[in-house]
Amino acid sequence: MNLVLMGLPGAGKGTQAEKIVEKYGIPHISTGDMFRAAMKEGTELGLKAKSFMDQGALVPDEVTIGIVRERLSKEDCQKGFLLDGFPRTVPQAEALEDILTELNKKIDYVINIDVDQEILMERLTGRRICKSCGATYHLVFNPPSKEGTCDRCGGELYQRADDNAETVNNRLQVNIEQSKPLLDFYETKGYLKNINGQQDIDKVFVDVDQLLGSLT
Ligand SMILES: [Zn+2]
Repeated sequence: MNLVLMGLPGAGKGTQAEKIVEKYGIPHISTGDMFRAAMKEGTELGLKAKSFMDQGALVPDEVTIGIVRERLSKEDCQKGFLLDGFPRTVPQAEALEDILTELNKKIDYVINIDVDQEILMERLTGRRICKSCGATYHLVFNPPSKEGTCDRCGGELYQRADDNAETVNNRLQVNIEQSKPLLDFYETKGYLKNINGQQDIDKVFVDVDQLLGSLT
C-alpha cells in the first residue's frame, strides 16, 4: 500500500503514522528522516542537501525530489510506504506522480486527518508548564487538579510564548494555505480520503484501518 499522510499541526498525524506502520509494516518516510539518512550515507544528493541546510537555506525541489526517488526505490518500499511531510506543494506532488510512474507504482490513498480549526487551536494552545519543576500539563487532555498550580510541586503554571493563540493561529493559517492546493490536487486525482480526526485516537485509527483493509 502506497500512502501519503496529511494533517494540520495538532491533528494527530504522528500517532496515526505510528499505528499504520506498526500494523502494516510499511516504512514511515518523513522528510526529515529521509534527509538525515541521505546525508549519513553520504550520497551525492545527500551531500547537496547538506550544503544547503548548512547555509540555512531551503533545499531546492530538484534535490528533495531526487532524494525521494532514491528512497522510494529501496527494497523496503516494495510492500509500500507511508510518506509524511512530502509532498508539500503541487509541483512536488506532480514530481511524485512521475517518480511513481517510473517505478511502476501508484498512490493508493492520500489520508487526510481532518480536524476543525477551532479544535486544533484548543489542542495547540492548551499546554501549560510548571515554572518550578518543568512538569507539563494540558488544559484539555491532562489538566492539573487545581487551575494554574502544579500537582507535583505546587509551582505556578505558565504558557510558553510558542503556544500562545496568535503564534499558533499564524502557524495554522500558513499550513492551511499551503495544504489547500495539495488537497485539491489529490481530490481531483481521486486519491483523497478524509478521516475524522475529532474522535478518540483509537477510533481515528479504526477508521484508517477500515480504509486500509480494502487494500490487503
Ligand atoms: Zn511543578
